[in-house]
Amino acid sequence: MSELGSSQRPLRAAIIGSGPSGFYAAEALLKADIAVEIDMFDRLPTPFGLVRGGVAPDHPKIKNVTRVFEKIATRDNFQFFGNVTLGRDISIDELRNFHDAVIISCGAETDRRLNIPGEDLPGSHTATEFVGWYNGHPDFRDRAFDLSQEVAVVIGQGNVAMDVTRILAKSVDELRHTDMAEHALDALAESQVREIHLVGRRGPVQAAFTHPEIKEIGELKVCDVVLDPADLALNEASQTELDHPDNAHSRKNMKELRAFAERGLSGKPKRYHIHFYRSPVELKGAGRLEGVVLERNELAGEPFAQKARGVGDLEELSCGLLFRSVGYRGLPLPGLPFDEQRGVVPNDHGRAIDQGVAVPGLYVSGWIKRGPSGVIGTNKPDSQDTVKALLEDVGRLAPCPTPSSGALRDLLASRNVRTVSFEDWARIDAAEIELGKLKGKPREKFTRVEDMLAVLEAAPR
Ligand code: NAP
Repeated sequence: MSELGSSQRPLRAAIIGSGPSGFYAAEALLKADIAVEIDMFDRLPTPFGLVRGGVAPDHPKIKNVTRVFEKIATRDNFQFFGNVTLGRDISIDELRNFHDAVIISCGAETDRRLNIPGEDLPGSHTATEFVGWYNGHPDFRDRAFDLSQEVAVVIGQGNVAMDVTRILAKSVDELRHTDMAEHALDALAESQVREIHLVGRRGPVQAAFTHPEIKEIGELKVCDVVLDPADLALNEASQTELDHPDNAHSRKNMKELRAFAERGLSGKPKRYHIHFYRSPVELKGAGRLEGVVLERNELAGEPFAQKARGVGDLEELSCGLLFRSVGYRGLPLPGLPFDEQRGVVPNDHGRAIDQGVAVPGLYVSGWIKRGPSGVIGTNKPDSQDTVKALLEDVGRLAPCPTPSSGALRDLLASRNVRTVSFEDWARIDAAEIELGKLKGKPREKFTRVEDMLAVLEAAPR
């Protein structure tokens, strides 16, 4: 039998998930010194994961990375299987009949919880729901947010919180020519939200947002920034963190924040309040959200390991809308080991580990490997690290019995799964761009799977 990775018998890899970590894994495999065949799977008919469903519509340049991914997807030895749900349409064990190695790059599909009373009151949502909704993700398309409220609070100070608050703080005219889904633009056009509160449990030096994001807040056209200078006070450990030579990003953030604290109101119609050192301890309301109780914190611990500790002072902030933006969390996949505490698949350089032992031929990359951190580009070295491990293992992998993408497609067809190829996606893409042109938008996204598939039925292959 020919060696795995030879031109007679290319290494066959399945990649689950078509976001950045999946595509960077594909890129690293395609650059390897062996012959490969890649099948990439996504449960949606559309590729690109959070680049399509997560990146803010008013940050279009970040989405240009899809051009790199498109080049990868049009290689002869790459096949896209959109509209295929792992665990429902096909199991990992079945996939292994057709592939010598499986790389799971499915991201972190749920949210961390606050675990406080009232968390699930109507009016309290995860940031993920709102982001998915305005980005036209089919899972969130039918969510409703009460934008008739004047006060919205966002808990957490990462870049997702920055996206959510910025979208609330802009006028709809600033968003109309983005690829934001039409249903969201219609709802935001009626928004009564005037006061937006960004609440962080630690201090300005520990804030998780990056400098371009906080700078943008100071440039909002219809929204003033409000920041109490007292919230910028630093204890000794925070001052040490700020002065550290490797902490230039915090110094840049601090400069923006100090300027906000000095700047007065200029009479813009909306206000963006930034709060530090406060944790939510309860969401209150009779039947629906009416307010959040915040406890003041102090920081304790060594520099760069400081934790927020409540000091007992409570204050209530009235609000009818609240978004919890405290990080994503990975979900267990059927048939895979899972670390419940960290929300990741236990792994060693991307080799999935079950009870201390590497599972032959099973790998992970991206957020399901390292947790939900970093920007799109962080996934490139992460996926390269996984593929390096896979390539080291090639000589030890058991060749799969049916090394054929065609046979796999036939199996899925026999189960009535309408797989979406990359050529199919190109037609959905073209239809979205065409619809967008009519409205002066880069695209008008289809927000329902059936509408995406209808494009393919309208003009069959
Ligand atoms: P994140 O950066 O990890 O931020 C989570 C925030 O939630 C932090 O401020 C954290 O505070 C806070 N938090 C966690 N648990 C909390 C609790 N129990 N109570 C109160 N606050 C709590 O997560 P993210 O914003 O979801 O972003 C995920 C990743 O995507 C990040 O790496 C982010 O940079 C990236 N992203 C990038 C962009 C961009 O480049 N424009 C856009 C969106 C997302 P502590 O620091 O105290 O834990």
